Amino acid sequence: RPTVTFDNVVFGYESDRTILQGLSFEVPAGDNVAIVGPSGAGKSTIARLLFRFYDPWSGRILIDGKDISQITQTSLRAAIGIVPQDSVLFNETIGYNIAYGKDGTSDQQVMSAARDASILPFIEQLPQGFDTEVGERGLKLSGGEKQRVAIARTLVKNPPILMLDEATSALDSRTEQDILATLHRVSRDRTTLSIAHRLSTIADAHEILVLDQGKLAERGTHSALLQHD
Ligand code: ADP
Ligand code: ADP
Repeated sequence: RPTVTFDNVVFGYESDRTILQGLSFEVPAGDNVAIVGPSGAGKSTIARLLFRFYDPWSGRILIDGKDISQITQTSLRAAIGIVPQDSVLFNETIGYNIAYGKDGTSDQQVMSAARDASILPFIEQLPQGFDTEVGERGLKLSGGEKQRVAIARTLVKNPPILMLDEATSALDSRTEQDILATLHRVSRDRTTLSIAHRLSTIADAHEILVLDQGKLAERGTHSALLQHD
């Protein structure tokens, strides 16, 4: 399990506007660190930099001490699994959706990931059924079940780093609790960076970083930050 480090990262999309203003933090191996902050603070930008959609203007992003610009795209993608807020499923079996785009995925890996995401009974089924009647193999997945497919997809190649990007914010609160429990379970033995805008969704983070206008306004444990409020 790797350590993820942001070391004085400065970045903007346009040269006249700096978005991240010298951001430094570390996610220790196997820990769970969460970033919260208002919309526009730069949270998603952190995710995009970690995936190297962009490179920092200055500063470094390291995985186990190695600058990610020195890591091949293939290894970077294998190292980091992202659970997005929302994902689109093809009208193919859940199993196919889990393996899609992941070269050389075995049935074993699909089943194991589906089991970890608690979606295993559905892997032979189609995700969306049909308009009027549920088709032969079709079923209509709920938002929570769809999110379980996304989690299985993320886990299928067993990435040691997880990035949870508002992973439950599209769900109603009861479903959110179920999915949070699953995410808690699957992130326990991985290095996890969560992005969220509500403190309630990141109760299990070891450290919470409060990002405001591209700077860390505060950092601390969940209970310490709640006391401040
Ligand atoms: P490179 O790695 O290509 O030598 P840099 O490390 O300087 O370039 O920057 C990485 C990316 O960020 C490049 O695409 C560069 O154009 C862009 N960039 C760097 N500094 C600025 C800046 N001050 N304003 C806008 N874009 C910048
Ligand atoms: P958050 O995830 O915290 O809501 P983002 O990281 O998405 O914030 O955005 C931070 C800032 O960067 C915002 O002001 C946003 O408008 C700006 N921004 C995001 N993406 C782009 C882009 N592709 N080009 C220019 N500005 C962008």
